[in-house]
This record gives sequence, structure tokens and C-alpha cells, in this order.
Amino acid sequence: MRHLLDTRTLGRAEALRILDVAEDMRDTQSREIRKLPTLRGKTIVNLFFEDSTRTRISFEAAAKRLSADVINFSAKGSSVSKGESLQDTAQTLQAMGADAVVIRHGASGAPHTLATSGWITAGVVNAGDGTHEHPTQALLDAFTIRKRAFGHASRGRDLSGIRVTIVGDILHSRVARSNVWLLTTLGAEVTLVAPPTLVPQDVSAWPTSIRYDLDEAIAARPDAIMMLRIQLERMNAAYFPTEREYARRWGLDPARLNALPEGSIVMHPGPMNRGLEISADAADSPRSTVLEQVANGVSVRMAALYLLLAGERDDRDDQGRDDQGAADAADAPGRPAREESAR
Ligand code: ASP
Repeated sequence: MRHLLDTRTLGRAEALRILDVAEDMRDTQSREIRKLPTLRGKTIVNLFFEDSTRTRISFEAAAKRLSADVINFSAKGSSVSKGESLQDTAQTLQAMGADAVVIRHGASGAPHTLATSGWITAGVVNAGDGTHEHPTQALLDAFTIRKRAFGHASRGRDLSGIRVTIVGDILHSRVARSNVWLLTTLGAEVTLVAPPTLVPQDVSAWPTSIRYDLDEAIAARPDAIMMLRIQLERMNAAYFPTEREYARRWGLDPARLNALPEGSIVMHPGPMNRGLEISADAADSPRSTVLEQVANGVSVRMAALYLLLAGERDDRDDQGRDDQGAADAADAPGRPAREESAR
């Protein structure tokens, strides 16, 4: 894997490979010593032009657990706030010898520009670009859904037959877009629920169905319901009358939580607006996978960085092998799941 820029162009086999390697990474994380030597000597730069808590820390933890050197670069307090361009910033990172750049940017398409510009040779990972995509969030969501559905038998499986309902601010959500592409590539049935004002214009071209009534969507018995944050910072108009009205019609309140079928899970990418799109009862209920998503995020990002930076060797070794081969590859000497390599 050269870059991870979106899920729209990510194929089923490659997506399953990332999820299966993430399973191996997750296994290593329950050990006493969680650090693997896999990316020793590699330099990963976290280049964040937009605020982030979870994602930046998660990428940092993932890189450090693989023994890479991590440089955190946030736009605030850097030369970017003095007007330095993405090109100059990228060329500076190149001169410092970055092997991978994890970028979050307010402009949709910035990671793609970085990857294709020729300014850097590093692998590029999109950590969220504008309203476009957030591929590692969708991968960790798919991982979480798969784990809850199939437990120990998750490896190699896709999400055929699983129904996922995504609720809320679809218009501004890169999480929704990345999930729509990835989950449907993996065979899940995806339904979107939102006020008409928060539905993107081109949604009829998406491989999903759309509803405007949350109670009806819950009555259709989803296996997972994903509540999206209302992205107030991206709203330049009044998309709904009041926050109270929004919570009443599209929020996951205690009554709707109780109406969900047994075994279905409640997801949220964070940060949550408690009392708006999700009630505290729902966020803290045993159905909630919010913290599991955070924990799984580290394993998924370890897998992505591993495949980006140590993966070429596997690509060569794996030629002609099936997906199971990639999962097995983690057991080979020097690969991440190996006990002695963890010590
Ligand atoms: N953390 C996610 C993102 O960066 C979701 C959100 O902010 O609502 O897109």
C-alpha cells in the first residue's frame, strides 16, 4: 500500500487485509509489553492543520507502539500560521526525512494533493480532509462492527448481511462518506437518516437508502446505529430550527435506545455532543461501542502504518497469495504478531 487517502477507491481485498492485520495488532496489545520493533528507524510526521484529540493521539500511539519516531506538527504556532504553503511545509518534511505523513486538513483533497504533488516521497495517510473522507475512522468502525458481530471468528469475513444506520449531519460528515464507501464495499446494507437540510445533493448516487424519520429507521432493526456529531463549525446557515428540536427528532434519546433490537450496537466517532445527537443514557449504555472504537482505532492505525511502511516487502512476498496469506504473514519471523518481536 503506497498511500491511504480514501475508502471510495479502496478495494474489498485491501480493506479486509487492513482489518485482518489490525486483528493481529490488537492481539499484541493485550500483552504485557505492547511495543513492537517493526518500524524502528522510520519517521512518521503527524501534520495537523485542524483540531483533533482522538485521531492525533491515536496515530501517535500507533506509531510509537511500532517503534517509529514521531514528529507532531500542528499548524497553530508553526510557520503555517505565518502563511507558509502546504508545498513549503511538505518540502521541509521531506528534507527532514519523513517516511510517512499523517495529514488532517480543512480542505477536501489536501492529502491527495500531497500524495500526488511530487513534493514528498513519503507515504500519505488521510486523517480527515474537510467534508471529504476520514478513511481510518471508517476502518476502525468496520473493525468494531465486525468484532461485535463475529468475535474470534472475524478474520477474513466481510459485513454481508449486516445493517448499519448512520444518523445526523451527513452533509458535513467525512466520517459518513468514508463509512458509506467502506461498509458497502464490505457488503453491509447502509441506511442514512437525516433532516432533509443535512442530506448532500448527490446522495442519490450513493449506494445507500435514505430515510427522514429516525423511529422508522429503528423499527427496521439495524445491527448498528452510528450517531454523527452536528458539525457546528462547518455550518454557515441554520440547518434546523433549534438544538432542542433536533434532539427531539433526530437524537438517540432513552426511548429510542430502548426501541433498538437486542444485540444492536450504538456507535459515535467522537467528539460527542451529549444531549444533542446522543443522550448520556445512550452514550454510556452497554450497547455503546464509543470507547471500543477508540481502542480499536490504535490497532487499525498500527495496521495502516505497518502496511504503508513495512508492507512493500509483504506485497512482494505475498504475490499470488490470498487474503488469508496476509493474516498469516503476521506470524512470520520479524512480523508483528510474533512473541519474541514484541519483547
Ligand atoms: N472526529 C471525527 C472527524 O474528525 C468526527 C467529528 O469530528 O465529528 O471527522
